[in-house]
Amino acid sequence: MAKILIVEDNALNIKLFCDLLAAHGHEPEAVTDSRSALDAARNFQPDLVITDIQLPHVSGLDLIRMIRSDDKLAAIPIMAVTAYSAQGDEERIRAAGAQAYVTKPISVVRFAQTVDELLQATSSGRAADSGNGGTEGSQEPGVEEPGDEASAT
Ligand code: MN
Repeated sequence: MAKILIVEDNALNIKLFCDLLAAHGHEPEAVTDSRSALDAARNFQPDLVITDIQLPHVSGLDLIRMIRSDDKLAAIPIMAVTAYSAQGDEERIRAAGAQAYVTKPISVVRFAQTVDELLQATSSGRAADSGNGGTEGSQEPGVEEPGDEASAT
């Protein structure tokens, strides 16, 4: 079970995310106003932050940067949720400091999977992946590709 802070201005998405996370045994807390997100994070001390990118007042990108530059919050993994995936968005989101992002409308499977991956990465974190047994079964395929070593050029 993990504490997960959701920053999202859309009530239907909040309900969806909270229901999903609760169904997976997590403890979600939501804020609709990104201006109160930092205070909420300091109080709630979440294991993961899920933030919308399209937010009034403080954008998701700015919020991610603020979390990353805050001594107390910098280590918390961040998953971004965005309605648009224009070219360059993923780079911008990752450059701001989010570890993962999913696009709306969300796939519930991918949403839950990404949450699990981020939580596992941090709980096994710091110990510099000494827990990697070697058998890979459930990894999502196609994430890493060896590159184009094809044949003739
Ligand atoms: Mn929004």
